[in-house]
Amino acid sequence: MIKLKPDMAVKNIFHISFNALVDRGIENIIIDLDNTIVPWGDQKIPSELYGWVKAAREKGLKLCILSNSSRERIQYFASRLGILAASKRGKPFLRAFKSALETLDGDHNNTAVVGDQIFTDILGGKRLKLYTILVEPISRREFLGTKAMRLLERIVANRR
Ligand SMILES: [Mg+2]
Repeated sequence: MIKLKPDMAVKNIFHISFNALVDRGIENIIIDLDNTIVPWGDQKIPSELYGWVKAAREKGLKLCILSNSSRERIQYFASRLGILAASKRGKPFLRAFKSALETLDGDHNNTAVVGDQIFTDILGGKRLKLYTILVEPISRREFLGTKAMRLLERIVANRR
């Protein structure tokens, strides 16, 4: 049974210390899109996000979006931010995470995953032994499916 507790939990991506990641040997970050770097369904890219991507790059960190959103939406953000996008979708399945690792040319020793959902981002990352970072979701506007997931997460969390 895989433990669902993330290696790190922070309020948002801006609370992630790139130095701490680099110290752990992290060179790559697989990053979720909706509710992790932008509000769900939002098209706007906040200027702080460009700054965050730049700061990561300056630390030598490579970023790759892995999202279950539409390919068009993923490509829109990846191209504007100048970062990579995984060729496959379908979190939490391994093929999705493996495609992100391939795109980054990374492995479980040097790759972290950042996301707002336990059952997709964290679960998938754990299965590949990546360093997992959970952020609080940016927006409450979500799929109904995601809402059902959150209810499940609360039930699981209360059992611990
Ligand atoms: Mg998300």
